[in-house]
Amino acid sequence: MPSTLNHVTRPNKKKQVSQQTPVSAETPWYADGLRFECTQCGKCCSGEPGYVFIDEAETAAMAAELKMSVDEFEQKFTRRVGRQSSLIEYPDGDCIFLEPKTRHCMVYNSRPIQCRTWPFWDSTLATPADWQETCEVCPGAGAGTLYSLDEIEIRRTEKPV
Ligand code: SF4
Ligand code: SF4
Repeated sequence: MPSTLNHVTRPNKKKQVSQQTPVSAETPWYADGLRFECTQCGKCCSGEPGYVFIDEAETAAMAAELKMSVDEFEQKFTRRVGRQSSLIEYPDGDCIFLEPKTRHCMVYNSRPIQCRTWPFWDSTLATPADWQETCEVCPGAGAGTLYSLDEIEIRRTEKPV
């Protein structure tokens, strides 16, 4: 949902460390809900370089789906970013698990929280303008199924992104 850490403003599923903006604790601007329905275009898994941060449980789940040991998975598909671990990506910015032809996720059933909670992140929901920017890069955001405030908040608060 973007390793130019500080200077890219276009949101996608790959996190840019500097973009975290907490949502207000008061009634959020999206209290009436927001629409989202994924078209599976794969845009949010590509684009500007960035990070898909993963913890031990997420690593183990993806390794299991790929029938690999955790050690092998970490060596092949992850890199250290400070004290955290991130999936690696291709030189063009595509996530290592974005299948080049179909543009589908190769670990969809065990994809990281950061991926599952997109596009309902702190950073995409901070202001209506942030959401509008998200809608401009994600064809599924702002269209289709209406998510209630509760449904959005469950996703937004699962992990700060
Ligand atoms: S519709 Fe949005 S969430 Fe779905 S793959 Fe495209 S950019 Fe990603
Ligand atoms: S793990 Fe899957 S959903 Fe997440 S960024 Fe990579 S290809 Fe996309």
